[in-house]
Amino acid sequence: MKRILAGNWKMNLGVAEALALFTSVAEGLRGAGGVSCLVFPPATALHALAGARGPGDPKLGAQNCSTEPKGAFTGEIAAEQAREAGAEYILVGHSERRRLFCESDALVRQKLKAAWRAELTPVLCVGETLAERERRETRDVLARQIQRALEGASPRAPLRVAYEPVWAIGTGVVAAPAEVGEAHAWISEELTAAGRGDEPPTPILYGGSVDPKNAASLAAIPAVDGFLVGGASLRAESFLAIAEALRGDPPAH
Ligand code: PEP
Repeated sequence: MKRILAGNWKMNLGVAEALALFTSVAEGLRGAGGVSCLVFPPATALHALAGARGPGDPKLGAQNCSTEPKGAFTGEIAAEQAREAGAEYILVGHSERRRLFCESDALVRQKLKAAWRAELTPVLCVGETLAERERRETRDVLARQIQRALEGASPRAPLRVAYEPVWAIGTGVVAAPAEVGEAHAWISEELTAAGRGDEPPTPILYGGSVDPKNAASLAAIPAVDGFLVGGASLRAESFLAIAEALRGDPPAH
């Protein structure tokens, strides 16, 4: 299985800037192989990027969607609309949405359903806050988030999971390799309990202040199937350096 490099551009970049970044990343990765790349531009740039995208270029994802397919929901974007604009993936449960927009586990579950209804592959983000880690609740938080998100879901529905400790996102603080390995193992156990133990395994990415300096040591953790990168995905140079660290055979699990 190729390892995955995903870039979350958040609420940054106009359409022309997004096109320029996408083109640089696509050119930098062309012919390099080894890594499966996807980017999550702002919704305003999705359609333009889809038009510019060539075969083998990074795939596109949306950062958010409504739970509903259509209707009177001013300001919302349906998963179907994101799909039509060119998205194949979607972020669900990102900690910024859980924290800043009060998205509950129940809403995350509804958004996963919406993603599958629209034939998008969700990247489900899970992770503990610093207070939860200090109270030694990490395992319980991950179990709760995954169990509630996947309740009643088909174990065959396409899914990627990103372990994103909230305290490591956008802070420059990276989880230690042992912490990442342990959390990924707990997530794996939960996925197995949810019926996802069979091949192909559900890829589990790490996200939280990944940059060109720490990418190699994080990529050396056997349980890491790829990265979800925020800040360092906004410059082609740093994103491509992280791709380089992920390339090659992953260490055996
Ligand atoms: C993210 O937003 O998913 C993320 C991992 O951000 P950063 O890499 O900036 O910590």
